Amino acid sequence: MNKNCLSAQVEKLEIENFCMFESIIGLEIHVELKTKSKMFCGCAADFFGKEPNSHCCPVCLGLPGALPVPNKKAIEWCVMLGMALDCQIPEFSKFDRKNYFYPDLPKGYQISQYDQPLCINGKLKITLPDGKEKIIKIRRVHLEEDTGKLLHAEINGKKSTLIDFNRSGVPLVEIVTEPDIRSSEEARIFLKKLHQIIRYLSISDADMEKGSMRLEPNISLREIKNQKSPASPSEAGRAKIKIDEELPKYKVEVKNINSFAFAKKAIDFEIKRQSELLSKGETPQQETRGWNEKQQMTTSQRSKEEAHDYRYFPEPDIPPICWNKETLNKLRKNLPPLPDNIIKKLIKTYKLSLYDSTIIADNSAVADYFEKCVSLAKNIPAKTIANWLINKKIDIKNLSPDNLVKKIAQSQQDSGITDDELYKIIRNIIQNYPKAVSDYKSGKESALMFLVGMVMREVKNSSLADKIKLIIKEQLS
Ligand SMILES: [Zn+2]
Repeated sequence: MNKNCLSAQVEKLEIENFCMFESIIGLEIHVELKTKSKMFCGCAADFFGKEPNSHCCPVCLGLPGALPVPNKKAIEWCVMLGMALDCQIPEFSKFDRKNYFYPDLPKGYQISQYDQPLCINGKLKITLPDGKEKIIKIRRVHLEEDTGKLLHAEINGKKSTLIDFNRSGVPLVEIVTEPDIRSSEEARIFLKKLHQIIRYLSISDADMEKGSMRLEPNISLREIKNQKSPASPSEAGRAKIKIDEELPKYKVEVKNINSFAFAKKAIDFEIKRQSELLSKGETPQQETRGWNEKQQMTTSQRSKEEAHDYRYFPEPDIPPICWNKETLNKLRKNLPPLPDNIIKKLIKTYKLSLYDSTIIADNSAVADYFEKCVSLAKNIPAKTIANWLINKKIDIKNLSPDNLVKKIAQSQQDSGITDDELYKIIRNIIQNYPKAVSDYKSGKESALMFLVGMVMREVKNSSLADKIKLIIKEQLS
């Protein structure tokens, strides 16, 4: 929990003396794994865009007597994700039945995990816009099966609901955070980083538009009560800790959001809605809501169930999972390098800035491509290759690293100047015209054009104007 932020708010409260709330946000994220077959049967899991009900069998249709056989790859991938999120992997884990009735769930229960999930107690470090780092704790990562899909349509003038069971039984990982998140922006940063890690692991395409990654923020507000000025620092410390521990007595969950931007908007909407209720002395209802993008608001769907409503019990048809150290070590060894490691490597090995490294490491394929280019290029600085990848929208699928290197070399030949020389000139100009630099930094765009002009006078190649402008901007940022 971010005590600094909290104490800053408490102090602010003591000065301004009015009602304030702190947002308590947790996230549940569902991710469909891209295994070849479904979670408990041999049907193909690649269902997107296929003819409805063409990827089904007695197991995923929940027909009586059908027996589930767990997908080994899905279990391993779930554990690898847990490892990437710094989770503990308990030696013993099991599947449970979560009972509820809904037409998209033909068995009447979903095979999920209740009290002994595959992964527990993890954490993910995020970097906030001000550069500070924050740890978001991960409560659990578990495995379950997806449900079928309902399609609402009008057939012969009648409103009808159709069911497609192709998605039924596709392996689904659920990631649950502790309520450590304090703003919609923190939630967005966390989700983007999680998304990136999942892509790095190649366990899911995590495509939000196809619904293979779905977001469910839960939001409540905690009132920061007005307090008298503390008599001593230790008293202040105690007062803060007391506030810090109490969680609100209600929680609002927003279901099935399929974009980071919508999640952010839904959270902001809820913070506003709930603070208005609380300010009137009302307590928001414990419930599940949905995000309505058209109306830009959340709407009530149903009151929130408690775990006992689902009558969880151990799945009798699947033996529990017992890990030995050897298998877990093997999985750990197979973990690919993760974004944070790649960023560190780019900074250390290629002397790229944190900014450039973060952009290149955003996608592991781009990071690989960059390294291949650097190894092929003889007289081109790594920084130049990074610039091309970042600024020129290189289509890495259709341009081989070898060809990109040739292209950069050709362009340097055409312009009659290498990047190394160009950077040198630009650095000199920046040093020699401090007044223009400070003007630009205080918002005068014309100062930038002046600096570009000064560089152009030495370079004498008008085709380089845009490039020079970009480099100066980057050097001054
Ligand atoms: Zn099946």
